[in-house]
Amino acid sequence: IDAYNEPQLIRSSLAAVINEAELFKQQRGRLPVLMEVCGSHTMAFARSGIKQALKNHVTLIAGPGCPVCVTDQSSIDAMIQLAEMPNSIICTFGDMMRVPGSKQSLMDAKTNGCDVRVIYSPIDSIKIAQENPDKEVILLGIGFETTIPLLALAVREAERKSVDNFSIWMTTKLVKPVLEKLVDSQKLLLDGFLLPGHVSVILGEKHFRFLKEFHLSGVISGFEPVQLLSGIHRLLTLSREQKADVINDYTYVVKENGNTAAKAMMNHYLEYHDEDWRGIGKISNSGLVLKSSYSKYDAKKKFEVVQNQPRKTKCRCGEVIQGLITPEECSLFDKACTPNRPIGPCMVSTEGTCAAHYQYMREG
Ligand code: SF4
Repeated sequence: IDAYNEPQLIRSSLAAVINEAELFKQQRGRLPVLMEVCGSHTMAFARSGIKQALKNHVTLIAGPGCPVCVTDQSSIDAMIQLAEMPNSIICTFGDMMRVPGSKQSLMDAKTNGCDVRVIYSPIDSIKIAQENPDKEVILLGIGFETTIPLLALAVREAERKSVDNFSIWMTTKLVKPVLEKLVDSQKLLLDGFLLPGHVSVILGEKHFRFLKEFHLSGVISGFEPVQLLSGIHRLLTLSREQKADVINDYTYVVKENGNTAAKAMMNHYLEYHDEDWRGIGKISNSGLVLKSSYSKYDAKKKFEVVQNQPRKTKCRCGEVIQGLITPEECSLFDKACTPNRPIGPCMVSTEGTCAAHYQYMREG
């Protein structure tokens, strides 16, 4: 990893990207436009200064790859209702705690006496369920393909250990359907995708070859500065040569077919479902839920929660996650909305675009 952070190598990689971007500009008369799909890439670009250094050469747009940010408001309200049930323990990843719902966040619910616990792995919730047999332990199942196999693993553990007071509130998301939706909508001019490294470990390079049908390229990239720059460089070269291809630039962890054991685990327990995405709406088969044979672990079937229309706010996270606006174009950015008083999930999450811009890219 240290080799990818060597300053001289970063400088020469940056110069090579700028050179390639200039050639693109001469050919097309405009800057190249690339989308980084993954929230970890968004944060890495901002933290490393690469986004700022390329500002006048490449337009880098953040995409819908932050799991907290794409979770729709009504799901967050439903999670808070679950927390308010008298006998429940809610298990969640830390990022979800401060995401505002229509009236309050999970953190507020905890402050008000609800039992909401931050876990580091979905398996932790099985142990909590075993330790609290008189309570209903509900795991908030959010995440993309990196996390989904772990949710399936938790169900397997519950099954093996006969833990009946455990269930999952599934609102998982899949990368391919949302990318297809973005490309189909034609709201954005795009010259290629920097594809998510972590998700690709599970799905494999092959999974993303569908992009070629849209005459678009994708490069699977790691997260260190030189890896990010290499990914951009390869995308620019493909684009300038007017080729549509999918390249794996993260070969030491991403294989052609991904992690077949993790995919088998997902296939065994889960099935496709039409999911609601913040700001986008329902996308067909864009999430996974438990198969009916495992409905005893399905919190949506086990508990009655009324999903109301969420309260409207001026937050524009729905547009931020589609790359339609930058955080600075939201009138609340760095005014009413800051990391200390976030109004939308993109300012809360450690992978959120607004948080990345606030932390590393504010002017003045
Ligand atoms: Fe939402 Fe805050 Fe981002 Fe505006 S700045 S889009 S209110 S998270």
